[in-house]
Amino acid sequence: MAETYQVIVVGGGSSGLMAAINAAQQGASVLILEKNRILGKKLLLSGGGRCNVTNRTSQEELIKHIPGNGKFLYSALSQFDQEDIVNFFADHNVQLKEEDHGRMFPITDRSATIRDALLDICLELGVTIQTKEPVESLLIDRAANKIQGVHCKSGHDYYCKSLILACGGRAYPGTGATGDGYAWAKAAGHSISRLYPTEAPLYSKDDIIQEGSLKGVALREVTVTLWDLNHKAICQHTMDMLFTHFGYSGPAILRTSGHINQFLHETGADTANMTIDLQPELNQDQLRDQAEGQRDKQVLTIIKAWMPQALARVLLSKIPLNPSLAYKQLSHQEVNSLFQLVKAFPISAYKTDPIEKGFVTGGGVKTSEIQPDSMASKLLDGLYFCGEFMDINGYTGGYNISAAFITGTIAGRHAAWAAYEY
Ligand SMILES: Cc1cc2nc3c(=O)[nH]c(=O)nc-3n(C[C@H](O)[C@H](O)[C@H](O)COP(=O)(O)OP(=O)(O)OC[C@H]3O[C@@H](n4cnc5c(N)ncnc54)[C@H](O)[C@@H]3O)c2cc1C
Repeated sequence: MAETYQVIVVGGGSSGLMAAINAAQQGASVLILEKNRILGKKLLLSGGGRCNVTNRTSQEELIKHIPGNGKFLYSALSQFDQEDIVNFFADHNVQLKEEDHGRMFPITDRSATIRDALLDICLELGVTIQTKEPVESLLIDRAANKIQGVHCKSGHDYYCKSLILACGGRAYPGTGATGDGYAWAKAAGHSISRLYPTEAPLYSKDDIIQEGSLKGVALREVTVTLWDLNHKAICQHTMDMLFTHFGYSGPAILRTSGHINQFLHETGADTANMTIDLQPELNQDQLRDQAEGQRDKQVLTIIKAWMPQALARVLLSKIPLNPSLAYKQLSHQEVNSLFQLVKAFPISAYKTDPIEKGFVTGGGVKTSEIQPDSMASKLLDGLYFCGEFMDINGYTGGYNISAAFITGTIAGRHAAWAAYEY
């Protein structure tokens, strides 16, 4: 006989585990169908194995750090927010600690602590977990415009009142997030907005990258600005960055990457232009004052205080300036060029790593077709969404797992409540 549950969750990752817990807490019978042998494979990898669970910030800031449809979360956040995530784990004896930029990690520094806690709560609540059971398609009652259940590759059919799709995006497919669900969402009548990589390193043909002399050089707290074709700033991030053998990486760059993909796609431009402010804390006049106080010193010695030596040499070669010249020997124009480069060192990129290597998927099920207060489909009764499967993407810093936990919580609760009404 076919198995029937009040709520079925497809995907036992970050959002699916949270959805299952919340549905079960409402008293619903819940089944998780997961294609992997284990649950939460991506969660285990997250934060370099430490899991950056959430970010201790305001709701406004959280939304700002979710450039992919963060505003869609307003209604969800009024029901369960980042502070509730911290309290949820504390209530289950998992303590979190705060690091730089508000990032929250388990005090054990092990992502397994988070994954295991979620799994244990599921088991305590009586959630049925079926691993190695890839879902193949949805079962839909077209006449009633209502979800019926799912059909699995094994040949099994499972029936439910409410179905939650928590099957993730397309980044890091080795974790199980291979994008299977997009075809099902389309079959249910939903639209999928263009998929693209976000939080991905950049590739560049800049001379400084081709020459390779800056490979491995890291910059601390610099401001990276991405410019549009009218030289208007698209985005600006003050964080660390890194020169690699193929281009640029590090937090400030990863945050810019999704915007670059959008810019290249929308404009058809070959490259995206950025600038690095190497001393964002000081304006040009303050930098000049510092240099004027050391007029007899070599220009290289002066600017080495503002950036790594390898970059200082490259910067001077761009003007071009002999590094051993004393500052007082520079012409007015050379001084201007020098400070302009310190405040706006130009770099460019022509592509990012592909979606499979990006940390997070941009695009997904269109949020305009999803109820923001319940994560229910606006198009098919009984269907719910959560996590990266939706067109929601955040910056690194705990914003994606936050979005997964928040939408998972809302989808789980509402799917369970609706299941009692049918
Ligand atoms: C290396 C890495 C590190 C990261 N670190 C962080 C971090 O520290 N903090 C942060 O906020 N974000 C981080 N992220 C992003 C974050 O992990 C994800 O955005 C989040 O886990 C998405 O949750 P999800 O539930 O939507 O998808 P997932 O966690 O990917 O879960 C989807 C699940 O669905 C299953 N599934 C897919 N298709 C099927 C099918 N046909 N049948 C059955 N099951 C299926 C998959 O196997 C998978 O288990 C990181 C991402 C990566 C790749």
